[in-house]
Amino acid sequence: MVLEKVTRYDRDRASTLGSRAVVLGGSVAGLCAARVLADAFEEVVVIERDRIPETPSPRDGAPQTRHPHAMLEAGRATIEDLFPGFGERLLEAGGLLLDASREMRYYDGGDFLADPPERLPMYCASRALFEHAIREGIERLPSVTQRGDRVFTSYETDDDGSVAGVEFRDDRGGVTTLPADLVVDATGRASRTSSWLEANGYEPPPTESVEVDVTYSTIRVERPGSARHTLVVPPDPPRTRGAAAIPIEGGRWEVILQGVHGDDAPTDPEALVAFAESFPVPEVAELVRDREWTEEGVHHYPFPSSVRRRYDRLDRFPDGLVVTGDAIASFNPIYGQGMSVAALDALALHHALATGGLDDLAPRFFDRTAGIVEAVWRVAVGADFAFEATAGPKPTGTDAFNRYVDRLVSTAHDDGRVTDAYYRVFRLEREPTSLLRPGVLWRVLAP
Ligand SMILES: Cc1cc2nc3c(=O)[nH]c(=O)nc-3n(C[C@H](O)[C@H](O)[C@H](O)COP(=O)(O)OP(=O)(O)OC[C@H]3O[C@@H](n4cnc5c(N)ncnc54)[C@H](O)[C@@H]3O)c2cc1C
Repeated sequence: MVLEKVTRYDRDRASTLGSRAVVLGGSVAGLCAARVLADAFEEVVVIERDRIPETPSPRDGAPQTRHPHAMLEAGRATIEDLFPGFGERLLEAGGLLLDASREMRYYDGGDFLADPPERLPMYCASRALFEHAIREGIERLPSVTQRGDRVFTSYETDDDGSVAGVEFRDDRGGVTTLPADLVVDATGRASRTSSWLEANGYEPPPTESVEVDVTYSTIRVERPGSARHTLVVPPDPPRTRGAAAIPIEGGRWEVILQGVHGDDAPTDPEALVAFAESFPVPEVAELVRDREWTEEGVHHYPFPSSVRRRYDRLDRFPDGLVVTGDAIASFNPIYGQGMSVAALDALALHHALATGGLDDLAPRFFDRTAGIVEAVWRVAVGADFAFEATAGPKPTGTDAFNRYVDRLVSTAHDDGRVTDAYYRVFRLEREPTSLLRPGVLWRVLAP
C-alpha cells in the first residue's frame, strides 16, 4: 500500500477507546504510533531505553541514527498529516527542502537519469533532526509522556492470555509494572515479541529473511552554502559498491559508501578514499577526498539481511498487543524506506482503531500493515535479487521485472517522464506495477 492508495489521517474518525496505551520504543515508529494513540486513549506512555534527547542527537539505542536517512514522499506526507508543522520545524532547524527533479543526481545503468518534468519536493536533514522534529510534535500532546532510561523487560498478561501491561527496569535497577489497555511494540529490528510468543504458548510469526550482506560507512563533509544537491549511485551488478550524499543542516553533506555481498565499506580513512575513487563517476571521490571532513572517524554499520516477520499469517495472537515499524519488517537501508513505512504503519493503526476499536485489533492491523510492507518489500528485495549472491525467498516475477527495470533505467537516461515514473515508485507514492502503465510501457519498449 503506497501513498496514492492509502486513506489519509482524519482526526475526526478517532474516539476514546481506553485509559492507557503503552508504546515500547521512542524512535520514529514509536513516536508515530504514540501520535495516533493519543486520539484514542486518555494517556499514552512511551518507554524508551535511551535518555530522551533534548536536542537533535544520535542515540545508542538506534545506532543507525549516525547514518544518512532519506525521507520518502509517503513518509513526508504522512508525518506532516500526523504532526502539523513538521516541515517548518525541520527547516527552522536548518533542514533543506529540495526539488528532487532538479537537485537529485541519480546515476544508474551507466549514466545519470534525465531530470523529470515536474517538481518533486524532498526534505533533507540528519536522522537525528528528523526524529527531533517528530518528537517536538509529540511534546505538544499533553496526554503523551516519554519515559527515557527505561528498558522494557516483559509483557504482563491476564488469565485469558491477553497482554494487560508491561514490566520495565529503570537505570537504577528498579522494576515497575504498568497496566495498559493496549501495548505497541516499536522496539525495532531486535524486537523480542516473536520469542516472547514462543515462550508463552503461541506460534511465533513465520520469518522471511533475504541476505544481502551490506555494510555502510558514513562520514560528514563540509558543504558550501549554495551547494545543496543529493547524489545517489546505487550498487549495480557487477558493481557491488554504492554511494550517496545527502545535504543536511549545519552546512554539511552526509556521505555514505556501501558494499554488498562481502565488499566491505572500509572504516580506515585512506581505504575509504580509495573505495570512493573506484566509482565510475568522479563526484563520489570529490566528496570524500577533496572536501573537508567535519568530524573525525568513520561510522560503520553492518546490515546482513532484510527481515520480514509475518504476524499477518498467525492464527492466534494475544489481545492487547500489536507490533509496528522495523519490528515487523526491516529493509535493506539502501532504499531509504524504513521511516516512511513506520509512518504508514501508524496510519494503519489509526484506521484499524477507528474502524473496529480494540476488538480483534491485531489481525485487522496486521492485515493492513501486510499491504504496506508488501509493496515496499518487493521494491527493496526485488532490487537486491539483481545480485546472484542474494539469498532467500525470491518474490515471484522478480527476474522478469528486474529485466524490465534495466531497460526502463536505460530509457530514463534520456526521457525525464520515465525517470518521473521510476522516482515515484521509489518515493512510495505509486505501486511498482505503475511502471507497467501504458504511458510508461510504450516509452520503455519502443524500439
Ligand atoms: C544504516 C541504516 C540506514 C537507514 N537509512 C534509512 C533511510 O535512508 N531512510 C529511512 O526511512 N529509513 C532508513 N533506515 C531505517 C530506519 O532507521 C528505521 O526504519 C526507522 O528508524 C524506524 O524504525 P523503528 O522506530 O521501528 O525502530 P528503531 O529506529 O530501531 O527504534 C527502536 C527503538 O526502540 C528502543 N528499544 C529497543 N529495545 C528496547 C527496550 N527493551 N526497552 C525500551 N526501548 C527499547 C531503541 O532504543 C530505539 O529507540 C536505515 C536503517 C539503517 C540501519
